[in-house]
Amino acid sequence: MTNLKPFINARLVERTPFSNERERFRFEPERPVNFKPGQYATLAVLSGDAVIQRAYSIVSSPHEPTLEFFIELVEHGELTPHIWELKVGDSLLMRERIVGAFTLAPAPVLARRLLIATGTGIAPYVSMVRARADAIRNGADDGCEYFILHGGSRAQDLGSYREELMELCAGGWLQYVATVSRPWENPGWSGEVGRVEDVLRKHADTRGYDAAHAIAYLCGHPQMVESGKALLARAGFPKAQLKEEKYFTLPAAEATA
Ligand SMILES: Cc1cc2nc3c(=O)[nH]c(=O)nc-3n(C[C@H](O)[C@H](O)[C@H](O)COP(=O)(O)OP(=O)(O)OC[C@H]3O[C@@H](n4cnc5c(N)ncnc54)[C@H](O)[C@@H]3O)c2cc1C
Repeated sequence: MTNLKPFINARLVERTPFSNERERFRFEPERPVNFKPGQYATLAVLSGDAVIQRAYSIVSSPHEPTLEFFIELVEHGELTPHIWELKVGDSLLMRERIVGAFTLAPAPVLARRLLIATGTGIAPYVSMVRARADAIRNGADDGCEYFILHGGSRAQDLGSYREELMELCAGGWLQYVATVSRPWENPGWSGEVGRVEDVLRKHADTRGYDAAHAIAYLCGHPQMVESGKALLARAGFPKAQLKEEKYFTLPAAEATA
């Protein structure tokens, strides 16, 4: 018998497509859940007797009334095709306990946070900076500075988060750079070009997000996380200043390619 005790229902209240494979989903959980920015929820569906469950970083910050996710459809994946079938008003299962250690180190250990993402890996950082903006509105400023580097193949892989984060830069405590690796598929693109790993050192170094001042966070594609970590380690970042969240494991053949 499948144990559904750890799960509650989460009702889909809004979905916004950015492309055929990337969407923003907002869910209303049956009961409010507690979490810290950077943590993830486990979304699930029942398939016969089995529960298919996967981790999704929460995009929204704890002060928001709904739980937001930025999800990529994985063709032939076990769970995401089910999520794509949901209509507003439908529900899926969600573990009531929100978990994860990819959270911000308490301020002011190091006052600069270097946040590096590919695609949907931007999710935890949006939660972090929305929470920060809310804290500032409420008169609580911890004095930390943030630099987000966000990469995708094309502009639509970045969702609407690029615009949102660019607007937040007006506050002076956040810098944001988006980079696309296939600019020829985005004729109007005027931003940075290349993979995250190709432009990371250039942007981090010129902004003073170095080993003496920053903690680095890497999130999303496993290959970016590995090569980003190696780059930063060579630049003097000790292990304790490198935090990572890999979204999936590459099949062995691709990992060695
Ligand atoms: C802590 C954590 C947080 C996560 N947060 C998010 C999030 O915010 N948004 C999000 O979209 N995903 C996120 N993921 C990934 C998510 O948990 C699933 O792995 C993903 O949605 C695929 O699920 P699936 O069942 O459809 O595919 P699966 O059946 O699990 O995978 C099928 C195959 O596709 C590969 N694969 C899985 N994901 C991808 C991908 N994105 N690109 C290319 N190949 C892939 C797998 O290696 C596997 O070989 C997160 C993962 C972790 C561990």
